[in-house]
Amino acid sequence: MRTPASTHGEDQGDGRGRPAGPTRDGEGPIPPGTGVRPEDEEPTAPADTGGQPESTAPTAADPGGRPEGAAPEGAVRARHGVTRAVQARHDVAGSVQARRDVVGAGQEAQDVAGPVRSPAPQGAGRAVPSPAPPGVGDAGPSPVVPVFLYHSVMDDPPGWIAEFTVTPEQFAAHLDAVVRSGRTPVTISAVADHLAGRAPLPPRPVLLTFDDGFADLPGPTAEALAERGLPATAYLTTGALAPGGRSLLPPAPMMKLAGVAELERSGMEIGSHTVTHAQLDTLSAKALAYELRASKAVLEDALGHEVRHLAYPHGYNSPRVRAMSARAGYETATAVRHALSSDHDERYRIARLIVRRGHTVADVEGWLAGTGARVAPYRDGPKTIAWRWYRRTRALVRGPEFAG
Ligand SMILES: [Zn+2]
Repeated sequence: MRTPASTHGEDQGDGRGRPAGPTRDGEGPIPPGTGVRPEDEEPTAPADTGGQPESTAPTAADPGGRPEGAAPEGAVRARHGVTRAVQARHDVAGSVQARRDVVGAGQEAQDVAGPVRSPAPQGAGRAVPSPAPPGVGDAGPSPVVPVFLYHSVMDDPPGWIAEFTVTPEQFAAHLDAVVRSGRTPVTISAVADHLAGRAPLPPRPVLLTFDDGFADLPGPTAEALAERGLPATAYLTTGALAPGGRSLLPPAPMMKLAGVAELERSGMEIGSHTVTHAQLDTLSAKALAYELRASKAVLEDALGHEVRHLAYPHGYNSPRVRAMSARAGYETATAVRHALSSDHDERYRIARLIVRRGHTVADVEGWLAGTGARVAPYRDGPKTIAWRWYRRTRALVRGPEFAG
């Protein structure tokens, strides 16, 4: 690994002067129309991007309580050519050394989100309201798009994920608030269609997303959504769900990879949340390619169709991570940012709002009304950038860790 890259680049998105480095790992060029510029790709290893603290999305651990496989670079080597599922499970394991010291349960990760305007082609034929003044309410055709990020929904979560867990009762109250708001729940594909100019978003959309793949997801959580006719999007950490897989997630009850197709049939769109839940902006190019490609391949094998969407673990991303995500075949990627998204958000770091156990129905109603958080896109602030640098340096010294 090399040294941390300069702070700007990643966050700036201004494309300033960064040469489009050589394609690595046979990755091929960045697909046109993604809004990701070659110059965004930093050749340097530790990438980050930055931004503001996003909450760390602690994720789940592997069910079997095995050591998290931190996919260290060595281990996580992208094996080109070999893609498939099988790999996802094995690779990661061996090499990894479990470093869990930092599994702080409630740490906040930052989100890497950054700057950059959204390159999104606003499409054709769509009545795109002019860029939303931050904080705009939702009267009329609001361009504000609340994207909620849930983790587990249960009464007695493991301590490390408790901060990001809501009870079934809280969850039901939140869903009722969503229904009352009159917003139209959509999945990430609808956002992708909009950003690509293929189809307009419905008026006042809202997204419900679930990270990691906890055991409640295909059970009571999916049922609560289905009862209200609410579609949602699930981003799964394949190493934590696959038999024999490894991830950096501390132990927690997780769903199984075998249940993914059924989860999709229940109304949940499936996206990738990488193999091991690594902080992508601290990985080598090979390790990063592995996390992006192997998780995608595993899910595609399980579902029998392409998986086009990604969620960055902890929200951490960087220009390089975003460029590699586009090259790996993802059409969108969600970050965290603790912000409201908008219909002109950045396609490779769509802002989300992490729902914590302390959030009230009033908080949820505020977000649904388009208030209570800033509206993306916007550039990363100095804190986010500084935090990214710290994490990169730490990763160089201590290796992969779960928490931000
Ligand atoms: Zn996660």
